[in-house]
Amino acid sequence: MSREKTLGVLGGGQLGRMFVQAAQRLGFDTLVLAPEAQVDGALSPAAQVSQHVVVADYADANALAALTQRCFAVTTEFENVPASVLAELAKPERKLAVTPQAGAVQIAQNRILEKQHFQSCGVPVVPYLVIELPQQLDCVQPDFYPAILKTARMGYDGKGQITVHNNAELRTAWDKLSRTSCVLEQRLALVRECSVLLARQVDAAGAERLIHWPVQHNVHVDGILASTAVEALPALDDQSLVAAAQTIARDLNYVGVLCVEFFILDGGAWAVNEIAPRPHNSGHVTMDASSLSQFEAQVRVAAGLPLVQPRQHSSAVMLNVLGQAWAGGEPPPWGKIVALGSSTVGVHVHLYGKEEARAGRKMGHINITAATLADAWQTATLIQQLLH
Ligand code: ADP
Ligand code: MG
Repeated sequence: MSREKTLGVLGGGQLGRMFVQAAQRLGFDTLVLAPEAQVDGALSPAAQVSQHVVVADYADANALAALTQRCFAVTTEFENVPASVLAELAKPERKLAVTPQAGAVQIAQNRILEKQHFQSCGVPVVPYLVIELPQQLDCVQPDFYPAILKTARMGYDGKGQITVHNNAELRTAWDKLSRTSCVLEQRLALVRECSVLLARQVDAAGAERLIHWPVQHNVHVDGILASTAVEALPALDDQSLVAAAQTIARDLNYVGVLCVEFFILDGGAWAVNEIAPRPHNSGHVTMDASSLSQFEAQVRVAAGLPLVQPRQHSSAVMLNVLGQAWAGGEPPPWGKIVALGSSTVGVHVHLYGKEEARAGRKMGHINITAATLADAWQTATLIQQLLH
């Protein structure tokens, strides 16, 4: 194995698996470092496909030494990799290209820092209060409710969030969240949820390449993404979201793939929700509807290959396949699902190699591509029925 050909990735889940597959298509070898890369003999989604696997804690000194010795660049698929580990890996003596940078990841990992960054960019945010001390609980005015208490760190797929309607409920909720640092967000009536996926790199001369994909329209069920839809021809009013996402990335001097989530409100107003410093579930459509997938973009940034603005050649719907689709232990009817493809509608199944189908667990996704979004939805709706 040669160091100049090997890309390291921190994290062993499905995002790492799809990064590894994209890296291998471009001729790279990969090394996956994750504590859960192998549990009870079962390999994690990324470990199943990677040439090299190190099973160790992210902060394990020997593991980081192995990564340094065997890789020329390193990236992360897991949002909660300690930012300090990325900072350690980026020390000049290791001669490793580390993307995204520790500083940006640290901000994205903490809802308080994240919102402060959005505000410093002049981008509208959801009205919020910081809850870190007991006395702050009594300062919330009745007209702020209903609200959602969210832990500042470690939340994902709606975990670490409790809806509250008054100060008494807020107290109980904060106790439930172990009185950790939180934000209290006003619960808004959402007309739509969107995300903008972008990738940014800066060359040795300091010149930036900043690309983006068309705005994605997302539907969440119980806090988990259920579907994403993208138009091949993006609407003009999407420009303000793209511009906000670009400002958020630039002002972080961000290098890598970044996803920015937005809430669209009544009357066309909008607010930024949160960012993910990595490929994102809502960006899975790029695997089949675009000339450049978000995972190949991550590979290109990590390896120093140029990004070019992608061509969106199809409208597309992405359906997440969760564990509950294995009703009674039976897998979904894949034969019937792929048979719904045609000469005008593409049905692309992506499975993550997970053994155990638990409710809420992301087992895979299906991209449905077509010339128009209406055509893609028609087939997607039939597939949704087969998944239930
Ligand atoms: P996660 O890190 O789990 O993705 P989010 O903050 O994005 O957390 O919340 C998950 C989902 O919960 C959102 O996509 C949205 O559907 C809903 N949600 C979160 N915050 C609000 C809010 N302030 N108002 C209305 N809905 C919200
Ligand atoms: Mg989210």
